Amino acid sequence: MKTLQNSLLSDQERLWLEDQLAFGVDCAVAEQPYDYCVVQEKPPVAAKAPEIQAIKPTQKAVSTLPPKIEPKVKPKAAPKVPPKKNTAPAPLPLLSQTRIDAAQIAAKAQSLAELQDLVGNFDGCGLKATASNLVFGAGVAQPTVMIIGEGPGPEEDRQGKPFVGASGRLMLRALEIIGLRCADNLYISNVVYWRPPADRTPNDTEIATCLPFLCRQITLLQPKLIVLAGARAAQSLLGTTSGITRIRGSWSEPAPNLDLENIPALPVFHPAYLF
Ligand code: URA
Repeated sequence: MKTLQNSLLSDQERLWLEDQLAFGVDCAVAEQPYDYCVVQEKPPVAAKAPEIQAIKPTQKAVSTLPPKIEPKVKPKAAPKVPPKKNTAPAPLPLLSQTRIDAAQIAAKAQSLAELQDLVGNFDGCGLKATASNLVFGAGVAQPTVMIIGEGPGPEEDRQGKPFVGASGRLMLRALEIIGLRCADNLYISNVVYWRPPADRTPNDTEIATCLPFLCRQITLLQPKLIVLAGARAAQSLLGTTSGITRIRGSWSEPAPNLDLENIPALPVFHPAYLF
């Protein structure tokens, strides 16, 4: 457990803050504390939670992620042979108003710059409230490879750029050795555009809300192939609940309902796994 050294704090205050750290609290989201477990008049203004509307009773809330698809395990090989078509039944989408809004907004973007503006102005993903910066993506259009990671970490959040933290830099160094660079033929992004608090894994709702924007980003970028770094990236793009250890290294295609046909997709371990 972390201990705090600060002579301005009383023992009581120090212990209380250490408890917060142990719970994973690492940043303040409002000027004043607000107890969400107790019904109060209204939350402090600075703590404005993003508006995520409830699922309408007439809509079937099925699942945040598409149903399980078992990709065929093939021996590792370069994607010369066209990848196997993902013939699984179209997964049912999450019918939340936020996701519908995100899809409608994303469809308006005719360029990456427009899409970046639209994502930046979108308040439907709860992660935006606690992040410092939008981390949209970096690299060239029509890249040979697009890497999609799990989400920005502290350094990415600080700089507003993907893969600038320790594990991201390690991955970019490895890619450079095989001739892939953001300046030439590579594009990097994540399944969510804002850092999850305390670097937790992004949840299904956060991923499902960002997914329409990511799909539009992929459509505008037209990568030759996609590499999915980590379980959450692989599961959400491939529409599977299979573990990364099982599916990594097997070529597949994005889930049919994402309208990203014919783009070979390769799940791999997240670079942080190397640490
Ligand atoms: N940096 C990112 O932006 N995403 C990852 O998934 C890992 C590092």
